[in-house]
Amino acid sequence: LFISFEGIDGSGKSTQARLLADHLRDLGHDVVLTREPGGSPGAEEIRALVLQGDPDRWSARTEILLFTAARRDHLERTIQPALDAGKIVICDRFADSTRMYQGLSRGDLRGIVDELHRLMIGVEPDLTVLIDMDPTQGLSRALARQTVEERFEDFGEELQRAMRKGFLDLAQEYAQRFVTIDGARGIDDVTADVQQVVAARLPS
Ligand code: C5P
Repeated sequence: LFISFEGIDGSGKSTQARLLADHLRDLGHDVVLTREPGGSPGAEEIRALVLQGDPDRWSARTEILLFTAARRDHLERTIQPALDAGKIVICDRFADSTRMYQGLSRGDLRGIVDELHRLMIGVEPDLTVLIDMDPTQGLSRALARQTVEERFEDFGEELQRAMRKGFLDLAQEYAQRFVTIDGARGIDDVTADVQQVVAARLPS
């Protein structure tokens, strides 16, 4: 079972991914919790190349190639071996983040993102949990936790707003695998919804 979490910065998806991993482990499942960009040694190196330093170092198209290369390595080294061993994989962001961030934020490059995905990745999660949240609230939460990364400021609130809408549209486009959960509530309420959604898809 391959589960991804998606949402804008500050939506709480990383917290929810971790809580779900804890919950499923308590139930006795073998769980691999991983994240993108990153999730394998090579992909973490690419993460550092892309997310740290000068944001203009890579062109929009080069950035798509780097994210796709990172995902390919992550898939080969971490995700696919875990799935083949019958484990549950929980991934904090996957290809949908690239459809949004690289596909939307620096011009309309969604066609390139999709084409590369088809050629080099080809895998979609069985379930994608979209934690939906207003960007203003997301930003204030992220600031309160002091976990906001430089990129949030690069993208700005306007772009996060476009991203939020983009994720909601994506949830319609891939309706069979997406579940949208209102993240603007207390952590426990969101966690309860996540657990309910996942329980329905657990292997028996
Ligand atoms: O999810 P996480 O906070 O680890 O993401 C790190 C940063 O990378 C975020 O600010 C996010 O906006 C950005 N990002 C990106 N393109 C992706 C995935 C994440 O620009 N495909």
